Amino acid sequence: MSTATLSINLEALTANWRALDQHTHVETAAVVKADGYGLGSARVCRALAAAGCKRFFVAVAEEGAAVRNAVGPGPEINVFSGHMRGDTDMISDLQLTPMLNSLDQITRHFEALPRHPFGIQLDTGMNRLGLEWGDWAKVAEFALSQRPTLLMSHLACADDPAHPMNAYQLDVFRQMTDGLGAPRSLAATGGTLLGPEYHFDLCRPGIGIYGGLPFANARPVVQVDLPVVQTRSLAKGEVVGYSNAWQAPRPSRIATVSAGYADGLIRAMSGNATLWHADTPCPLVGRVSMDLITVDITDLPETPDALTILGPQQTVDDLANTAGTIGYEILTSLGRRYHRRTVTG
Ligand SMILES: *Cc1c(COP(=O)(O)O)cnc(C)c1O
Repeated sequence: MSTATLSINLEALTANWRALDQHTHVETAAVVKADGYGLGSARVCRALAAAGCKRFFVAVAEEGAAVRNAVGPGPEINVFSGHMRGDTDMISDLQLTPMLNSLDQITRHFEALPRHPFGIQLDTGMNRLGLEWGDWAKVAEFALSQRPTLLMSHLACADDPAHPMNAYQLDVFRQMTDGLGAPRSLAATGGTLLGPEYHFDLCRPGIGIYGGLPFANARPVVQVDLPVVQTRSLAKGEVVGYSNAWQAPRPSRIATVSAGYADGLIRAMSGNATLWHADTPCPLVGRVSMDLITVDITDLPETPDALTILGPQQTVDDLANTAGTIGYEILTSLGRRYHRRTVTG
């Protein structure tokens, strides 16, 4: 079999969630948008629910359907994008809780589903989702009378603890919500680590659960092993791959490995990334192609069956750095072709 293997360590995943939960004295939810950051929201949600997580957040209502199927009727499933046209049946049938983002969404929600649970998302300066201050002032009294499950906002710079935007958004959020009596949430992974004044009633980490920065103490959750399809010996001066992008500076052994940019090994990794055979680093050489990469294994004493691109030696953030991106994009780009399996321990 030449399909690459993506192993998901559910014990590390739940340990990361518990460790973030222990940073706070408040409830900790889990963000499972984009199919559980690419790892499969059903398995992720079931593991976290078994560990005690009672609230999940998704980006769009359709994602909520998979989560509801996985966790059953108890847990609360919140939808960041709110109540869009066409979402009403799903929100109602699957008992999803939309985070309403605009006056239009508030009108739509109370016309279609009066008495159905809802939250409100407020914009505190990121200018992406949520009601701005002026609109909030217009509807706050009515919205509060309908008992929102949550008032929430999102921090733009929480991965940088020293950034003045954090304290600014905290101040705006407090001014918009202090004394209103409704439950509140401001912190994702970064905010959870900023300290108790950012925690309010609920933290909602995502990336830290999956082993990514800014949760530096996270346990790695994913391992990706790529089968070696073929190896060959090159004389000094021979070239490898599209556009002859690499030329052997010495007699070399090259392994052709099964995975490429269709599997989320983005082309920007060409000539930069490193694969591993146990503790020995093996440089990716030449261009990443759609289904294959080529790796210099000259320094290995034996021919490996597989090489590791994500694992204990190299985190999602290490790999992201080789391609000028972030761990979030690496995880969510991994794609559908892997043989996904869960492991524990
Ligand atoms: C994605 C997202 C989160 C989770 O963020 P992480 O940085 O992955 O912890 C929380 N809240 C909102 C609004 C989000 O969009």
